[in-house]
Amino acid sequence: MRPTDHTLRGALDALATGETTSVKLTEAHLDAIARLNPRLNAFITVTAEKALEAARASDARRAAGRAGPLEGVPLAIKDLFCTEGVRTTAGSRILDGFVPPYESTVSGNLLRDGAVFLGKVNLDEFAMGSSNTTSAFGPVENPWSRANDPGTRLVPGGSSGGSAAAVAARLALGATATDTGGSIRQPAALCGIAGIKPTYGRCSRFGIVAFASSLDQAGPVARTVEDCAILLRSMAGFDPKDATSAEMPVPDFAAACARPVKGLRIGVPREYRLDGMPPEIEALWRQGLDWLRDQGAETVDISLPHTKYALPTYYIVAPAEASSNLARYDGVRFGQRVAEPGSDLRDLYERTRAAGFGQEVRRRIMIGTYVLSAGYYDAYYLKAQKVRALIRRDFEQAWGKVDAIVTPATPSAAFGMDERQDDPVTMYLNDVFTVTANLAGLPGLAVPAGLDAQGLPLGLQVVGRPFDEETVFGVGAAIERAANFTALPGIRA
Ligand code: GLN
Repeated sequence: MRPTDHTLRGALDALATGETTSVKLTEAHLDAIARLNPRLNAFITVTAEKALEAARASDARRAAGRAGPLEGVPLAIKDLFCTEGVRTTAGSRILDGFVPPYESTVSGNLLRDGAVFLGKVNLDEFAMGSSNTTSAFGPVENPWSRANDPGTRLVPGGSSGGSAAAVAARLALGATATDTGGSIRQPAALCGIAGIKPTYGRCSRFGIVAFASSLDQAGPVARTVEDCAILLRSMAGFDPKDATSAEMPVPDFAAACARPVKGLRIGVPREYRLDGMPPEIEALWRQGLDWLRDQGAETVDISLPHTKYALPTYYIVAPAEASSNLARYDGVRFGQRVAEPGSDLRDLYERTRAAGFGQEVRRRIMIGTYVLSAGYYDAYYLKAQKVRALIRRDFEQAWGKVDAIVTPATPSAAFGMDERQDDPVTMYLNDVFTVTANLAGLPGLAVPAGLDAQGLPLGLQVVGRPFDEETVFGVGAAIERAANFTALPGIRA
């Protein structure tokens, strides 16, 4: 088997038996990156030397009998995670030249467990987007293409487009990602891989460039549900450096993937059946529920009545928090500075921020500043917080009747890089099925479940109770087994 074809679990097994080494795995992935990244643009920074050095150290640890749970596995890190001594960009010009002097807790946890980092992967600027077209480092290409229109380059989804494209194209065995409104699940679905946003608080946010602090969560993307479970176990855990990180034991998520779904009650929310939804997505959803019933689960129709307010609520809360978080990029402390000789501080701020932020980030800062301003705060921000509480309550009531909820992951398959670019509201609709889990803080998993008529991947989403990722993994793995998704993207190592 070629080293880049392994699942993460398969690579760990092959490392354990001595069939491969971390150096071999790392070299194979670096070769694949050298060959395919000029086209895909998934990596912003490749740390080849560092990776090989880490792989040699890993092989030595394994030989000495000190192998960690991820010993020797090559991964890609979303360029939103601070990595000690390695440039971190957040996909933005404003951080030009920023080399963090510290490691994010989540990436540090992966290093502690023996992982090898290949480099930093592309994303929408400050993780704002659904297409990875807002990155200051250029768009990422989806390794999949339409059967009848192979010339149109498709988006990988966003904001974790680099993470998803790299894993789908076999440039890494897994990747870190973050999800504020869907940025793990939507790109995973559009690239035919799995990804989980865990419960808010499950992973530390320390050292992750902040977008919207009450919604941001880190999570993994990988080619199987079990691989996501293995990665999440290492990434998760209480961290005294993040006041919102939860003091909860981290269970064996991989073991939970083998849990039978027999007897589970699966909720099917009426409000997720959208007008104008492509019939293929509706059919896949029905198929997924059939698969779960075949394995002994019961499906239950439920109502989440405030669903229709989720997107507008998200697009008030997220920009509000972003406008506050991004106030720190002022040209004084980090990254880029644009100043005219003799000008004052205010001029420095204005020039730096005008030059450093792209169009979408500026739009969010303006919306956020507006909804927080005196006179509009009550009408917009406070109202949105109240609606957010109602959305959370919808789910709390549902958990009395069901153990997990299954929905489509996205309202469409991957779209063309030039499509949907002129209208931000159309772009925001990509998150219609995913933002609710962020607003309510719940775990959500995307699992590849089928192909559309164009041969593009489509995913289903499993949402669970707070801190019940185990049930989510069990249901996701059951869908994965039944779907037997073996299709491969056209561009891959
Ligand atoms: N697409 C959503 C947005 O643009 C979500 C992004 C994310 O989850 N980081 O805000």
